[in-house]
Amino acid sequence: MAEVEMRARRVDMVIVGAGFGGMYATWKFREMGFDIVSIEAGGDVGGVWYWNRYPGARCDLLSVDYSYGFSDEIQQEWSWSEQFASQPEILAYANFVADRLDLRKHYCFDTRVTNARWDDARQLWVVRTDRGDVFEARFCIMSTGPLSMPTDPDIPGIARFGGTLLRAAKWPHQAPDLAGKRIGVIGTGSSGMQIIQTLGRTDCQLFVFQRTPSFTLPMRNRALDDAYQDELKRNYPAIRAACRQNPTGGARPVSTRPFFSLPAEHRRELMEQAWAHGGHTFLGIFSDLMTNQQANDQVADFVREKISQTVTDPRLAERLLPRGYPIFARRPCLDTGYYETYNLPNVHLVDCLEDPIVEITQTGVRTRSGETELDVLILATGYDALTGAMLSFEITGREGRPLAGKWADGPCSLLGIVMEGFPNLFMTTGPNGPAALANIITISENDVDWIADLITHMNRTGQGAVEAGLPAEEAWMERVRALADNTLLMKAKTWWVGSNIKGKPQGMLMFTGGFHKYREACEAVAASGYGDLVFEARAETGPAHTPEAATAAQ
Ligand code: NAP
Repeated sequence: MAEVEMRARRVDMVIVGAGFGGMYATWKFREMGFDIVSIEAGGDVGGVWYWNRYPGARCDLLSVDYSYGFSDEIQQEWSWSEQFASQPEILAYANFVADRLDLRKHYCFDTRVTNARWDDARQLWVVRTDRGDVFEARFCIMSTGPLSMPTDPDIPGIARFGGTLLRAAKWPHQAPDLAGKRIGVIGTGSSGMQIIQTLGRTDCQLFVFQRTPSFTLPMRNRALDDAYQDELKRNYPAIRAACRQNPTGGARPVSTRPFFSLPAEHRRELMEQAWAHGGHTFLGIFSDLMTNQQANDQVADFVREKISQTVTDPRLAERLLPRGYPIFARRPCLDTGYYETYNLPNVHLVDCLEDPIVEITQTGVRTRSGETELDVLILATGYDALTGAMLSFEITGREGRPLAGKWADGPCSLLGIVMEGFPNLFMTTGPNGPAALANIITISENDVDWIADLITHMNRTGQGAVEAGLPAEEAWMERVRALADNTLLMKAKTWWVGSNIKGKPQGMLMFTGGFHKYREACEAVAASGYGDLVFEARAETGPAHTPEAATAAQ
């Protein structure tokens, strides 16, 4: 052990992840003068967009919102071609930012963190990787992403499959030739739907293994013309400011109008308009869709009516109708002709509620009623969300306490950023923050800026370590729970509450009060002089102080 420690490289900060959170952290702390090393399991930048190269992958947040606001040069130089950008365009954007800001030189790619251990006496983190690196750092930033740990379904026989097995979340860089093949897709969440609506229109026989039908709304994507781009670029400061005031961290309209405050015809008219307009407009036309079951039921009925009108075979339509949970209590998808796909003769639905999957065989998928032979099987079965990445390696805090122990009953933190017992370890878009419920880039910028201000405060006041105070952390967790309990969100089985993973503690994993309220809570902690945090003065034996520039360059 002592021998390995001898080879440790001392830095000010280790940043884990090259998604949008890790990239922004890398830039921010580099500009502040920190000596940083950034670590990424993938071969390049982009995070989830580096891995998810499946056919039809696309972001269903507006591209204008789903982009950095911290650099005016970047937002002026980059132009989005579509209202909702495709994966290749988002990955190109991530690469553009990495080039423009010269971020890659800080990264160890194709490298996984295997262990991070806090050394109480020396007030630093000892971080090890699967390449044998050892870094010692005063600070550790975990930008590991809420959706970065894909999971296989608990179906026996996956390893036995003799055809081509593909995973949506780990799609091969060399696109596989799927023409003329018999393809099975397991999973009809956001990833599965995008694959189905794309592959269904190609030369193949597509078999969709659907367990829970998801609600989806029309995306109605469109190209962005030059005039629109110019207008956008003129107004970026106002757009970014609006995003920071918005519950979604995007520029989506928000309504204060309860559903039943309007007469039935007017409600219908608004729903028709939202359907025709596309995108997430629907979520912005009434204020109480997630708190009023009757209102939610009526909107769900409206969407089910649209599905029934779209799918020509009434028996098939019936099987595609989502039931048994409130609309929007599972992540709503945006589609382009998803239901129309089922009218095509080469697309076949296997209803796994009626006819459950029994096993994967060497030649296909066997359900109770028989086997479907396949050349290709695609798993679009989701993620061990929010906690999966952080618990995939050993993190040990004060007095040798493992993170897995602290989170045994579910993740807890203050603001999804800091934790009691884990000093100088910060998360961006972590559990108990808004994470995947709002625009991840807006949250990342908020979180990194908040951490940067806190570190500046520590350096000015001679502090060596900081962690969340236990009472503040418990109060935050209570707020997270109470907010979720007051909504319909807990009425659905979803990765939002951990129910997609066997044995995972159940409970809302995110702050559901909206990005704007979350940002206000972050600001309140800072404005109080960080009274909710516990500081420890810098130890004599602690790491050398970060450079003067670290406090000056903001
Ligand atoms: P997901 O929403 O968790 O969907 C997983 C799917 O796999 C579900 O349909 C699930 O069915 C099914 N499944 C799991 N185990 C199964 C089994 N044993 N048998 C049959 N079916 C099984 O995962 P995802 O589609 O990857 O999406 C995850 C999140 O990523 C999204 O909610 C979204 O936040 C993000 N995402 C966004 C976009 C976008 O912006 N457009 C695209 C892709 C992903 P059950 O529901 O019955 O469990």
